[in-house]
Amino acid sequence: MSTSTANMEVAVVDKTEIPRRLLVLDDENDVAATICMMAAAADYDTAHIDDADIFLEKVISWTPTYVAVDLRLADRDGIEVIRKLAEMECKAAVIIMSGLGGRILESSARAVSENGLRLLGTLSKPFSRAQLLELLATDTHETHSIRRSPTPPVSHEQISDALKASAFIAHFQPKISCLTGELVGFECLARWPQQNGTMVPPDQFIGLAEQTGLIDMLTRQVYDYALANLPLRNHASPLKYALNLSPINLKDTNFPHWLRNKCREHSVKPSQIILEVTETASMDNPLALLEHLTQFRIHGFQLSIDDFGVGYSSLVQLARLPFSELKVDQMFVKTLSRSQESRKIVTAVVGLGKSMGLNVVAEGVEEASALGLLRELECDEAQGYFIGRPMAPVAIKDWNGVPQKWTC
Ligand code: C2E
Ligand code: CA
Ligand code: CA
Repeated sequence: MSTSTANMEVAVVDKTEIPRRLLVLDDENDVAATICMMAAAADYDTAHIDDADIFLEKVISWTPTYVAVDLRLADRDGIEVIRKLAEMECKAAVIIMSGLGGRILESSARAVSENGLRLLGTLSKPFSRAQLLELLATDTHETHSIRRSPTPPVSHEQISDALKASAFIAHFQPKISCLTGELVGFECLARWPQQNGTMVPPDQFIGLAEQTGLIDMLTRQVYDYALANLPLRNHASPLKYALNLSPINLKDTNFPHWLRNKCREHSVKPSQIILEVTETASMDNPLALLEHLTQFRIHGFQLSIDDFGVGYSSLVQLARLPFSELKVDQMFVKTLSRSQESRKIVTAVVGLGKSMGLNVVAEGVEEASALGLLRELECDEAQGYFIGRPMAPVAIKDWNGVPQKWTC
């Protein structure tokens, strides 16, 4: 895939070499020294320290690229160190090491990410030189340099003005069949381009639009753009296009008719459209919800329960509402190949969805190994950065997944 087009959502990649400085915190000096030796043999600059406070000072003075933290220390624990590293806004990638077992390693790793630090991975002690080097090697330029451009908070007035200027558009992220690797469709994601070429991400305006009564207009604008620009309409097999629907939109009783007419205008069959709904606390009227969702199905649209496994999406809703698809939350899919816990959850959710006759989609596929596992689990479809990032319609012809089948 070309990384040069402005229309693709690509990471800002730093062209300089990533420095290779590893700082190890472990109160077992001989273990720490061995780790340093293993890394030094592969040309890493290394240092090891057994005291948490001295380690934190060294992080400031030496600016390591990687820090490896043992969870059990003489007078501290690894979680305290993680909190301190987060307070210091440490930029180093963090490796968590321990002999304490999988679940503790995994929850500590989660604490790293949820504190806003960059997690490189975990190492279960004892580990080999190959395992250490393999983990360090996963730190590519891209993972090292990914930065979302900081965007200032937006206001109701700005969204309102942008709506008047028809500024909201959609980008399209490909979805493939896990079994065949073939393209099956796209998810359409709202985007708000700025004059300076940056893009305000939907997390920054959807919630505010929901709270301030602008979501109906916004949804219609994004859908209008998406339906007029659906990529690869002439593809050999008919593709499906997923659109996100806010639960608030369900209160707009004209919406199913409006969408049906829009589809007619753009010669799109409702059966090609999947409406992805994330359940939220605002779904306060279960009967209205049941009626509105059923109306969409009667009009021929597909319905997907988004982000399944987190938040409010529940088994009860899955059983009583007319969904045709289930999307496994990306939180579990992203960590599929390195977390036993995630693997068990994804296995169970895929099994549940399939046993209920639903099309099961896993999003957040960032690695070939995750796609391989999903294929083994007989998950139907996959979506994620490994396959393709969300793209502007013009960028899709350059996306190398169109002619290629995804194999791993
Ligand atoms: P979502 O519906 O769960 O969409 C998936 C989000 O995950 C997208 O973020 C997508 O870019 C991102 N993503 C996809 N694959 C990967 C991956 O492999 N790794 C990682 N780290 N992320 C991945 P985006 O576009 O920023 O959208 C965020 C959320 O905003 C969406 O989450 C959805 O809830 C909401 N949203 C987006 N467009 C619309 C819209 O038109 N209407 C409504 N109501 N909500 C929307
Ligand atoms: Ca979605
Ligand atoms: Ca989702």
